[in-house]
Parts: sequence; C-alpha cells; structure tokens
Amino acid sequence: MGKEYLIAGNWKMYKNAAESRAFVSDLAGTFTQVPGLAVAVFPPFTALAGLRSLDGKIKIGAQNMFYEEKGAFTGEISPLMLQELVDYVLIGHSERREIFKESDEDVNKKIRMALQFNLLPVLCVGETLQERETGKTRAKIERQLEKALHGVASRDSGKIIIAYEPIWAIGTGLNATPKQAQEVHHFIKGLWRELAPGQNLQILYGGSVKPENSLELLAQEDVAGVLVGGASLKIESFSAIIQNCVQLLKQ
Ligand code: PEP
Repeated sequence: MGKEYLIAGNWKMYKNAAESRAFVSDLAGTFTQVPGLAVAVFPPFTALAGLRSLDGKIKIGAQNMFYEEKGAFTGEISPLMLQELVDYVLIGHSERREIFKESDEDVNKKIRMALQFNLLPVLCVGETLQERETGKTRAKIERQLEKALHGVASRDSGKIIIAYEPIWAIGTGLNATPKQAQEVHHFIKGLWRELAPGQNLQILYGGSVKPENSLELLAQEDVAGVLVGGASLKIESFSAIIQNCVQLLKQ
C-alpha cells in the first residue's frame, strides 16, 4: 500500500462560522479527491456545528478538548460534545502547552479520552530552539511521547497521528529543513516500534509550511502529511500545498 497523506490546516483563533463555511465550500472546489490524500481543517469551536452539513470531502477537527465527559467545568468542551461534530482533535499543540500551561499529564488524559470517544487524536510534539541547540530534541520528544501514551492500549495507539512541530518553526517563517524533519520523523518511528509494537503511525510535519517548501517536505520518506497554520488561512496557499501532495501521489 502506498503512503497515506493528511494535509491539515490549524486555523487557531481566526475565522468566524460564516467565513469557515465559505472557506470549506471554496476549498472543496479546488481539488479532486485522490487515493492516499485526506484534507482536514481545524476551525474554532464556534464554526464546527455549521460545517457538519457540508460535503465530507474535507474532514473537520477541533483544536482542543477537555478530558472530562461532562460536569462543572465552565468554558470547557468535552469529547462527548465533539464526537458528533468532528473526526479529529488536536492534542497538546505547543500554544496550549506554553500559553495555557498544559502539562504532559493533561495531554495524556486528553489522548485517552479522545480515543474512548472515537476521536482521532493529532498529538503535537516538538522542541524549543534552546532544546535543539543544546542537543535535547530527542530526549524531549521521547518524554512527550512516553507520557502521552501512558496507559493507552496498544491497539488504540494505532489511531493516534503525530504532528512533529518544532516550536522554533511555528509562526516564525523558519521551517525545519526537509532533512531535519526526516531525521526527527525517523526517530519517532523508531520510538513508536517500542511504545506501540505492531501499530502503524502517520507523522505530520508542522512549522511554517508553505507552498514553496511543502513539496520537498512531503517527499521525505517518513513525512506523511503537514499541519499548516498561517498558510492554511488562505485558499490560494492551502490549495497549493494540497496540489503539491496530489502531484507527489501521482508520481
Ligand atoms: C501550527 O500552528 O500548528 C503551525 C504549524 O503554524 P505555522 O504553519 O503558522 O507555523
């Protein structure tokens, strides 16, 4: 079987419900579905319900969730609520970890709950610039993965998608080189064999992905998709990244 790609757009705190609907309808018209390609967007919570009725060519994800099913947790959104609206949920994005102080333990609870509610978790991991420069990239990612998977049944870990997002590359215009991305993805694949024996793993790269660098990143052996922030907010740039992936699949 050939490689399966996921091209995912993280919209962060941009686009209201109407803008999100218009974007998804327009984006669907820019590409033809090909085997091996999945496209997903992760809009703000307020847009999710409005996207449900649109054609399923573009999958939908949430940017976060809480790790309880229901209860007195003012302002939180549960996996039970998301279950009827989305396919995927981002867990542990570096902005959640850094700005909202989410710990590895929180991330682990979220992963377990997402799986329990049949949501496909996209688990984000990655190092800071300082960690990279002091040779701690591998140790950081190993710790994040081990903690995230704690108590997850091996058969369930096969449903997790990983997004390797070096923090120094997010929103900075500095992307990891294709070689740097491939090295870390390869390392994660090796870890996965120990952490989740026999389970498949799809790893996305994220961090200043744009049309100009996406083809080479996607061509790396262990890069099976991209998580795109800024460049997913405009139809032209996001569809150009999708087209690059289509081109690779046709080769
Ligand atoms: C992200 O937020 O996940 C991201 C990768 O952002 P950007 O593409 O803007 O660096």
